Amino acid sequence: KPMQSEVGDFIYRSKLPDIDIPNHMPLPDYCLEKAAQWPDKVCLIDGVTGREHTYGEIELSTRRVAAGLFKIGVKQGDVIALLLPNCAEFVQVFLGAAKMGAIVTTANPFYTSAELEKQTIASGAGIVVTHSSYTEKLAGLNIQIITVDQHVEKCMHISMLLEADEAECPQVEIHPDDVVCLPYSSGTTGLPKGVMLTHKSLVSSVSQQVDGDSPNFNITVEDTLMCVLPMFHIYSLNSILLCGLRVGATLVIMPKFELSKVLELIQKHKVTMGPFVPPIVLAIAKNPIVENYDLSSIKMVMSGAAPLGKELEDAFRARLPNAILGQGYGMTEAGPVLAMCLAFAKSPFPVKPGSCGTVVRNAEVKIVDTETGMSLPYNQPGEICIRGPQVMKGYLNNPEATANTIDKDGFLHTGDVAFIDEDEEMFIVDRVKEIIKFKGFQVPPAELEALMLSNEGIQDAAVVSRKDDVAGEVPVAFVVRQAGSTISEEEVKDYVAKQVVFYKKIHNVYFVDSIPKFPSGKILRKDLRNKV
Ligand code: ATP
Ligand code: MG
Repeated sequence: KPMQSEVGDFIYRSKLPDIDIPNHMPLPDYCLEKAAQWPDKVCLIDGVTGREHTYGEIELSTRRVAAGLFKIGVKQGDVIALLLPNCAEFVQVFLGAAKMGAIVTTANPFYTSAELEKQTIASGAGIVVTHSSYTEKLAGLNIQIITVDQHVEKCMHISMLLEADEAECPQVEIHPDDVVCLPYSSGTTGLPKGVMLTHKSLVSSVSQQVDGDSPNFNITVEDTLMCVLPMFHIYSLNSILLCGLRVGATLVIMPKFELSKVLELIQKHKVTMGPFVPPIVLAIAKNPIVENYDLSSIKMVMSGAAPLGKELEDAFRARLPNAILGQGYGMTEAGPVLAMCLAFAKSPFPVKPGSCGTVVRNAEVKIVDTETGMSLPYNQPGEICIRGPQVMKGYLNNPEATANTIDKDGFLHTGDVAFIDEDEEMFIVDRVKEIIKFKGFQVPPAELEALMLSNEGIQDAAVVSRKDDVAGEVPVAFVVRQAGSTISEEEVKDYVAKQVVFYKKIHNVYFVDSIPKFPSGKILRKDLRNKV
């Protein structure tokens, strides 16, 4: 049985000891605390232009951008929007803004005018830093634009910030509970909400991953990380950028995903660590071009943001046998990392495929029965709840949603269903809202999708519910055939039926050209349900 709390709850903890987290420090000071030890070490390599920035340069530009923002009237607590693909300026403005006590909200540069208007108004952003090609869709908004590339009429230019006098960097007193970052959750289950992450949350989250004598995520100054996931999403911002800066790693940054380019850069820069999402893992496991590259420098590959089935993990391992493949489990509101694979630890533990990791250090997890609210022992699925210094302060201007998510004991309710086994490994079953109820039996779509992906003839698959008079709901599948495959509806149904209990059988198969998804691999089930 796991440890029990004073009120009798089962509490799950990391297998690694707790550490002292320096979460009294402002985020940029914490991330660059050791940078003075390696000023000439390359911090960022632009994958497209090859341009490099050293740690010394990044530290200096942090103070310059802070001074520049102060000079143009930005004050502590003001919100700045970043609308950029991965580039050095993203990093420089993020750190500079944090340094002077401003708050950064990030958005996807592909958002439409209407989406951007919503987020800039809701977040109260007065300035947006962006690329000249996006200025047109920002034109109607009441916001000051700063471009990072060419000068545009009526806009300011990034040189105002990068060429400011670092001696004028304002001295501000930053409180650990001050908000530093305002990401929006991706909007898969509801409307995107602004998530208030404080200096303390992000310092704690990074520290839980990489600090101490026995880190969970063992990256060091020797490592080179592939930064192809967008930094406007908290996974990349936290686990790649902030963790990478803290340890002094080199980051190879790419503005967009292109498999051949990723493989080429891994080979060229001898990348050691690949933080990816399931669609990238799928591409590396299944695409024949992978054979043309030398990927032997890769020591670790992490998958997160969406479910990765055991079958796909096995296929990936067969292809890159020398790399440790493991998962991380994150949620924007959780700062974001809840669990991480212990095979990534400095003193690694054996792990099982399909697990999304073990809860990070200095945090407590409960698995709660979704009907009774009782906390559950090993191997029983329920809602994951987490407590720790990394958890968000709340949703912006939405105390009601905050109260519905963080309970009176300080546990954040994730909306994800998982169980934890005797080795403290967590296995995500699905999201509470996605679980299909067949005559009251639970059918997790993610499990059926993982199963279908193990079929040679299937390139991609998604499962959603369809209303049914008898059963209430039944699972139906959308399937993308592998090139050249002629797999039929009956064959798909049989393939699944042979491997699952009767109530998890697929009732219909619809063949499609692609599955609507976020780049993170999250399936847009709303769109599919509407089609059924
Ligand atoms: P919204 O809350 O707006 O609907 P979202 O929950 O998709 O959007 P994110 O914060 O980006 O926004 O995603 C967090 C979710 O991603 C988690 O709650 C979980 O469902 C899923 N997730 C993250 N990592 C994993 C993983 N390793 N395995 C399975 N699911 C994961
Ligand atoms: Mg969510």
